[in-house]
Amino acid sequence: MRLGIFLKFVLLFAVMALLLGTAGLFAYKNYRQGYYEGVASAQLATAVVGMSGVLDAAVETSDHQVNNTLGIFAMFPFLLCVEMSASTGQSYRWPPIPCDIIKEEKYSLDYSDVLAGGGDLRFFVSRQWVNEEVSRELRVGALAMVIFMLIFLIGSGIVFHRVVGYPVGFLIKNLRDISKDLTKQELIRKLTRDEIGELTDALNGMLGRIREYQSELVRLANTDGLTGILNRRTFFARGQGLLRRQGKGVYFIQIDLDHFKKVNDTYGHGIGDQVLELVGKVLQGSVRIVGEREPDIVGRLGGEEFGILLRTNNLQEARSVAERLRATLQRSEVETGAEILKVTGSFGVAEMMPGETLDDLYHRADQACYQAKDRGRNQVVVATAPAITSAENG
Ligand code: GH3
Ligand code: MG
Ligand code: MG
Repeated sequence: MRLGIFLKFVLLFAVMALLLGTAGLFAYKNYRQGYYEGVASAQLATAVVGMSGVLDAAVETSDHQVNNTLGIFAMFPFLLCVEMSASTGQSYRWPPIPCDIIKEEKYSLDYSDVLAGGGDLRFFVSRQWVNEEVSRELRVGALAMVIFMLIFLIGSGIVFHRVVGYPVGFLIKNLRDISKDLTKQELIRKLTRDEIGELTDALNGMLGRIREYQSELVRLANTDGLTGILNRRTFFARGQGLLRRQGKGVYFIQIDLDHFKKVNDTYGHGIGDQVLELVGKVLQGSVRIVGEREPDIVGRLGGEEFGILLRTNNLQEARSVAERLRATLQRSEVETGAEILKVTGSFGVAEMMPGETLDDLYHRADQACYQAKDRGRNQVVVATAPAITSAENG
């Protein structure tokens, strides 16, 4: 199985994971920034509560003492600068430089009236500290996401290959082999780029072959293997259909080759078969199979007997057709090697009567054919209901 579909799957998943992961990390970053700002604020608030009394006492003592006390706030890693305004109006700061000149990005947290007599404290918190804390977490999160993606991809890749890839590949290979076997020379053309396309292609190729073989099987089931014309079963089945559709104008011509046993005996069975093939061709080629009317039906009824179901306007025409066939047959020749062999046939013609079954019609044509034999063979006898009259060839 090639990587086509799998690569598409991986790519699609990677793009989706990237989009979702980016959106997730962005939302998480904002959430954690708020959290760390809250942490700084809460820790400072606690410290302020604890330190306010000390600061008040320091103000009473000296400026130096206040500056030293403010320095205690340096224990907070996020603190850049602290300013204090005492109730006396005096200002103090740690570190002892103006907070403005510290270039690092910062934000202020104000605690008003926390000292005796209404003194204020203002802290400047490092944004860099907040960002660093957050990005440390994000790095861990991103690493976890990448590990999860890899595990998922490898796992789903294995599952995909087992569940889809392997069976599809197996199917394609076997369909190709089957199709090759069926066609021998013809390889399946590669019309599409991916496995599903190839699978469809292989299936179509195989179905096409199956359809061809199916119609070949139908043809073989309906025709006689030697002569290629309809066999007895299909001849009578189609004949029944014709009789159902046509109320009149249907004629049965029964043909039996004359002295055919002698042909076999004299020239061998192989020559006998050639004669039968020729007769099949002559009969099939002499009747109408296209045109406005329903096609005539020609079949080998068994041995050296043939039948034709003919559609004509009247009995006279039917007899003419039989006569023409008889003459054509008489003129046909088979090369035997030593000499040219000619065969003749005896013909019985019967017109379908109202209410008559195909069996009845066949029986009367057969009777007429026997009469033609009795009267010397190589002639046409017409059966008329109920009596039988003959039309000997002249
Ligand atoms: P008739 O003029 O009275 O019809 O004589 P016939 O010899 O044609 O009739 P008969 O029924 O005695 O012999 C028919 C012969 O047809 C016998 C059989 O061996 C031969 N036959 C039947 N089927 C085939 C076949 O498929 N191939 C060959 N070569 N001969 C066949
Ligand atoms: Mg016979
Ligand atoms: Mg015969």
